[in-house]
Amino acid sequence: IWEKGLVEAMNAADQASRAKSDFLANMSHEIRTPMNGLLGIIDLLESTNLNRIQKQYVEIIKNSGNSLLSIIRDILDYSKIESGKIDIQPVPFDPVEELKDQIKILSGLAGKKKIKLELTYGEFEKTILEGDKGKINQVLLNLIGNAIKFTPELGKVGVRMELNPVDDFFHFLSFSVADSGIGIAPEHLEHLTDPFYQVESSNTRTYQGTGLGLAIAKKIVELMGGQLEIESEVGKGSVFKFSVIVRKVDQNSVPQA
Ligand code: ADP
Repeated sequence: IWEKGLVEAMNAADQASRAKSDFLANMSHEIRTPMNGLLGIIDLLESTNLNRIQKQYVEIIKNSGNSLLSIIRDILDYSKIESGKIDIQPVPFDPVEELKDQIKILSGLAGKKKIKLELTYGEFEKTILEGDKGKINQVLLNLIGNAIKFTPELGKVGVRMELNPVDDFFHFLSFSVADSGIGIAPEHLEHLTDPFYQVESSNTRTYQGTGLGLAIAKKIVELMGGQLEIESEVGKGSVFKFSVIVRKVDQNSVPQA
């Protein structure tokens, strides 16, 4: 009887948790649509004849809108993962081109803080892989974005990519993102991937964010057969590493044009 009660309680808890995730996913979706509409109009407004002060105001609205949108995106992603509604969609991709694109997206942010963003990779000449490049990029953008965010001006962020065989078909595509930033104390390390966990409490916070980024990154990496590892030293910097399983596309099997 006791065991039956326990099973029932667990089922109820499971159902409640799923209902919560569904509610969050629906709500985020409903907020995202009008928010995109607002941001579209702000873009139009920006291109009209505005004076200096008006331009500043529009810029503030735009930044706030974009922050809100990224918070909503995080909540939506996390609730989708929690309710098992996310799946891996493998497509062929060129890892070097993809990585260069992600670096390009973040080079402006690094440039603003005069941070040197350095990219290195192993042997990748004309390698085409099959994996979920969208999700790999999402994790990378998150880790490199964090590295830039938590590194003071004139610091360094290094991104490295490697490919190692698992067997005849599969490979580990591995990345490491190393920064010369503020670092993380050992007591925080094991909690970093908990949802909403942030080292700084929200009332003293200097850095923006939801605390969902690493929770999402960890789950996505695990879905792709890998692991997220973190090493860090306060005042020296951090290294975030992850690997995902990919397939190497045999180029001889691709019909030549
Ligand atoms: P967010 O960046 O939105 O706060 P994350 O889940 O991406 O959320 O990160 C959680 C917390 O981990 C951050 O608030 C920060 O305290 C810490 N953190 C993440 N990346 C770094 C880093 N590269 N250097 C120092 N601290 C970091």
